[in-house]
Amino acid sequence: MADRDGVIWMDGEMVPWREAKTHVLTHTLHYGLGCFEGVRAYSTANGPAIFRLKEHTDRLFRSAHILNMKMPFSKDEINEAQRAAVRENNLDEAYLRPMVFLGSEGMGLRADNLKVHVMVAAWSWPSYMSPEAKEVGIKVRTSSYTRHHVNITMCKAKANGNYINSMLALNEAIASGCEEALLLDNEGYVAEGSGENIFILRDGVLHTPELTSCLEGITRQTILDFARELGIPVKERRITRDEVYIADEAFFTGTAAEVLPIRELDGRVIGEGKRGPVTEKLQAMYFDAVKGKLPEHAGWLTPTNG
Ligand code: PMP
Repeated sequence: MADRDGVIWMDGEMVPWREAKTHVLTHTLHYGLGCFEGVRAYSTANGPAIFRLKEHTDRLFRSAHILNMKMPFSKDEINEAQRAAVRENNLDEAYLRPMVFLGSEGMGLRADNLKVHVMVAAWSWPSYMSPEAKEVGIKVRTSSYTRHHVNITMCKAKANGNYINSMLALNEAIASGCEEALLLDNEGYVAEGSGENIFILRDGVLHTPELTSCLEGITRQTILDFARELGIPVKERRITRDEVYIADEAFFTGTAAEVLPIRELDGRVIGEGKRGPVTEKLQAMYFDAVKGKLPEHAGWLTPTNG
């Protein structure tokens, strides 16, 4: 990743990709206190456009606020940085990574007066899973790792350190021949994937865990918006893992994973064992929306040119 052409926005200016470096005593590298976003830009008839940029930037600022990190830039500046990162790297479609981190002015948990840095990188990252996975779905296992408790770390913040838990779960799932992990909360209810929210469909009703220990996903919100438009009833509530086993359909949502069917959990085939019709409809709407093909949702797209 580090050795490539291009530019990265760092603290207000574009720097050559290979020179976008930090010191080994960077505080966030040691203790994980930082926050970030995962954002995507898609190719549309009006050129590349960032999907739900405002919502991502708002969440980044909320994360920083929760972690008590004072943002040194305005939301407008961070939005412009993201548009510029796509434009100046000549990308048609892109994954964007804004991150807020603490500098190397001091070490130790008590260090204060640490500078808050912000960076934005953008690169081409076409599919998070294999392209077939979008149709056939993925195999998932319930993790032996519990998702964060709301009073152990801050679940509304997309904090760097929170992802230790995600990576332990994901690595375990992959090592056991699955493609993703399903994490339960500390009371044993379904929380989310390592980097995705989860939905199940049963008897025509969509269910998704309420926002306690799972992240307030922007794709989750997009699916809730679509469900409302399509007249599909939705219940945000506690879900048990065996409810996922007996669901008619199940899918993950996330900026990286997009809308991803789940065909199996813990060796139990879900529904027909492939992408179900409601998942297919919501997935198609999602891809239409991000590519600017739903005029009623044109407002979700921010062109990066001009
Ligand atoms: N949960 C976790 C833990 C995540 O990392 C993500 C990805 N940001 C999501 C859910 C989905 O959020 P979004 O739809 O905003 O990408």
